[in-house]
Amino acid sequence: MRQSHDAENESGAESHPKSHDAFARATSVIPGGVNSPARAFGAVGGTPLFIDSAKGAYIFDLDGDRYIDYIGSWGPMILGHAHPEVLKAVQAAAEKGTSFGAPTEGETKIAERIIAAVPSIEKVRFVNSGTEATMSAIRLARGYTKRDKIIKFAGNYHGHADSLLVAAGSSAATLAVPNSPGVTQGATQDTIILSYNDSVAVHNVLTQHGPEIAAFILEPIVGNMGCVVPGDDFLRVLREETLNAGALLIYDEVMTGFRVAFGGAQSLQGITPDLTTLGKIVGGGLPAAAYGGRADIMDHILPAGDVFQAGTLSGNPLATAAGNAILRELADPVVYERLEMLGEQLHEGLDRAAGKIPHTIARVGSMLTLFFNPEPVTSWAQAERCDTNQFAKYFHGMLDRGVYLPCSQYEAMFISNAHTVEDIEETISAAEEVFADWN
Ligand SMILES: *Cc1c(COP(=O)(O)O)cnc(C)c1O
Repeated sequence: MRQSHDAENESGAESHPKSHDAFARATSVIPGGVNSPARAFGAVGGTPLFIDSAKGAYIFDLDGDRYIDYIGSWGPMILGHAHPEVLKAVQAAAEKGTSFGAPTEGETKIAERIIAAVPSIEKVRFVNSGTEATMSAIRLARGYTKRDKIIKFAGNYHGHADSLLVAAGSSAATLAVPNSPGVTQGATQDTIILSYNDSVAVHNVLTQHGPEIAAFILEPIVGNMGCVVPGDDFLRVLREETLNAGALLIYDEVMTGFRVAFGGAQSLQGITPDLTTLGKIVGGGLPAAAYGGRADIMDHILPAGDVFQAGTLSGNPLATAAGNAILRELADPVVYERLEMLGEQLHEGLDRAAGKIPHTIARVGSMLTLFFNPEPVTSWAQAERCDTNQFAKYFHGMLDRGVYLPCSQYEAMFISNAHTVEDIEETISAAEEVFADWN
């Protein structure tokens, strides 16, 4: 498949006829044909692949083509798709019943595993999605501190709760405005937005609003504007000054938890947040997420305390079985050593392949972004300067060569433990071909 990228090919009608038809059919019954917008190829053009199955490092589309997968369901598939231990656990759990609405020992077991792994977590509550985890953590922070304001950082994504769907306003640097129709001014009036990696802004907002601030929430290593790494000074100022001001620090580790290290970003950074949100990997590919932290804070949640939060399917036995299986496998440090080795191989190979094309690569372990940007990306303002047309060309060139990348410049690639040195070599060769054709 060495096609030039004309408009007809990009529609997918020629190269992926079954996916093309499936998408047309889906579009008449599902808004935009997808159940989450990131899947729609909106940023790169063309129609999304419809997936038939996946195994290990590979996904297979309806047309029967095989791709080396670097999305990994946007993070969860750190062991690769359809891992035998996860399948075994889910099958065994399903035979015992898929939901009871009553406590099970699997929930206690996964809570114990999380507490053992993540340094700052003393108690943990399970929910069904990362969105729910961050929404609940913020309600808890507000209930605990009896304060209203929350601070987030531009380009960090914390799911789609109303108070977090904000953009920086034009008037004042820090005033947040709704980022989607349907989100009211009222829902965002207590959210302040700052630039990532800006420790002066953190200091200033605490000086100005300190006693009103319930919490800061951040991605401690960003995945959702591409991979962006924070500076040590930024993290230190955040931790020290929130402690002094009595504001809570919420680490949103929905993406980084069990990804960048078994103990998450906090274990690499030596920072102890008050609350942490987890998702993606923790559910082993089933819908599950969690929030946890200091026991004295977590005990404010109903029924231990009075902050309301509930869920019909929370702690679902299939999801906890999958989560327990994946966390058991990940407790072996060899997994993370191998992911680092593969990450380094891919990092060096892509860097070499891109050669003189203006680019910068950010990577932490098995999470990586090739930015079409000559400067290191440390904030959303810098991320916005990427050449997204070049990214789209790169994306389609790789797809044509059997490599399935995240379909946006502003997402991270994920390597799994099922990827082999040969898979990475094949990926680098594809990139060499794509970039050789450039211009
Ligand atoms: C994916 C993600 C979320 C949202 O999780 P969902 O399960 O999609 O609701 C929140 N925060 C971060 C950092 C994420 O990467």
